[in-house]
Amino acid sequence: MSKQETLPRKTFAIISHPDAGKTTLTEKVLLLGGGIRKAGTVKGKKSGVYATSDWMEIEKQRGISVTSSVMQLEYEGVQINILDTPGHQDFSEDTYRTLTAVDTAVMVIDGTKGIEAQTLKLFKVCKMRGIPILTFINKLDREGKEPLDLLAEIEEVLEMETYAMNWPIGMGKTLKGIYNRSDQSVEVFIEGQEHQVVSLEEAGLRDYETEKLDEDIMLLDEAGNTFSMEKVRDGKMTPVFFGSALSNFGVQGFLEQFVQLAAPPQPRQSSKGEVQPNAPQFSGFIFKIQANMNPKHRDRIAFLRICSGAFERGMDVTLARTGKRIKLAQSHQFFASERETVDTAYAGDIIGIYDSGNYQVGDTLLTGNDVFQYEELPQFPPERFAKVIAKNALKHKHFHKGLHQLVQEGTIQLYRTPYFDDYILGAVGELQYQVFEYRMKNEYNVDIELTYLPHSLARWVVEGEVTDRMTDSRKLLVKDLHERTVILFENDFTYNWFKDKYPEVKLSSGWDML
Ligand code: GDP
Repeated sequence: MSKQETLPRKTFAIISHPDAGKTTLTEKVLLLGGGIRKAGTVKGKKSGVYATSDWMEIEKQRGISVTSSVMQLEYEGVQINILDTPGHQDFSEDTYRTLTAVDTAVMVIDGTKGIEAQTLKLFKVCKMRGIPILTFINKLDREGKEPLDLLAEIEEVLEMETYAMNWPIGMGKTLKGIYNRSDQSVEVFIEGQEHQVVSLEEAGLRDYETEKLDEDIMLLDEAGNTFSMEKVRDGKMTPVFFGSALSNFGVQGFLEQFVQLAAPPQPRQSSKGEVQPNAPQFSGFIFKIQANMNPKHRDRIAFLRICSGAFERGMDVTLARTGKRIKLAQSHQFFASERETVDTAYAGDIIGIYDSGNYQVGDTLLTGNDVFQYEELPQFPPERFAKVIAKNALKHKHFHKGLHQLVQEGTIQLYRTPYFDDYILGAVGELQYQVFEYRMKNEYNVDIELTYLPHSLARWVVEGEVTDRMTDSRKLLVKDLHERTVILFENDFTYNWFKDKYPEVKLSSGWDML
């Protein structure tokens, strides 16, 4: 057994709203760990690493990595795998899917703003999966919301219990330190300097600071929740940390607790029941396919989450969907831009495997004769819709081929209207349209024309019958890829109107359907 194999794994992603401090926190966490290996960069715009990579043109133009990358660090005998989740205008279905490949999420909240829209969306996916969520309330060096109010906000908006692991002493200009509830130590804040961890007595607090702290802690002890590891692991309670990523304040304390609180690789549902991570059979599923990282070749990298057993370079695996045997021989790198070859990897790890067109998002790969499939990845509700046609009608055949392949691959969702059979695309974020358009042109040589629709909600009909008479252009009736009936609503208003008018029709937003 190699050293790597004996190390426990903790695989997580950060969920946050743009500018909350995800990149800064990731950088600080990486600095604390040894043996950093990272894919591309945390975010291209800052380090400019993207310039040296040969990722698809669209990435270079925008200076971002379109798809999430994987980073690794070792900390206190634990191998931590961080999956980056793109945000901003790069938000896409991939961002959601990445969360299906992690065992823990870290929610970064800007303490001056509280819970913001994108955090909430991603939070819902974590909640649906029941994974543990650790909260880091950032920007303590700035005047923010009251810590107690922030806890109340999390409890109310996210409907989960909180447990403050540490507690701020002052904030913004008056920030003095953070008090660690488990050992009563204080990390003292001195702007621009290394922060010392000392005992409460040594912290040099003024009387009013001590009084306020005593009061707050008493309130938390008496009126707050009791810590429960079971609730944390079930995603019912979130341990909350305060700190400032930019000042590297509270980050080490957070990481120390993270390795304890984060969940190890979890068992996963499959067609043959639950698969345990320590099962000897190698198995995993593909949660993302990154296309054309090298424009000279039509290569793609499929990102595989290992769920059980060990990966060894050169091994033969079965693609469960087709039964095809594939040798995972060449170009099996962990990380996109560095193209580092990986020889072995274990349950909880993410590997990038070379794909010449075999794989689809959601595919199961495994060894041995006991072939099973991991449960389907949930379909995430798109928010932006567009009608798509080929600009040149003569390219009809290429258009269909490209459209269907890219949809199969999970690039974008596809719907059809009844009667006219129009193609309507659905995406979670704008970027998916750009990638789709780019790939149709570059890989299938088809120029497409997109006409954006005013709709913003997709709801699957799970019960009751919907007839033409009940729908119109504001409530557009379509079928998805699996011939399920879907209604595209213009907005909440038309959606609510429909629900009131036809209470017998049961609608679902997609991800709770499976
Ligand atoms: P991301 O969009 O969530 O990845 O956020 P970034 O890490 O890029 O941070 C957004 C902005 O907030 C940047 O200007 C950071 O320098 C700043 N920032 C991050 N952490 C802190 C912090 O603890 N305090 C303050 N004052 N600013 C921060």
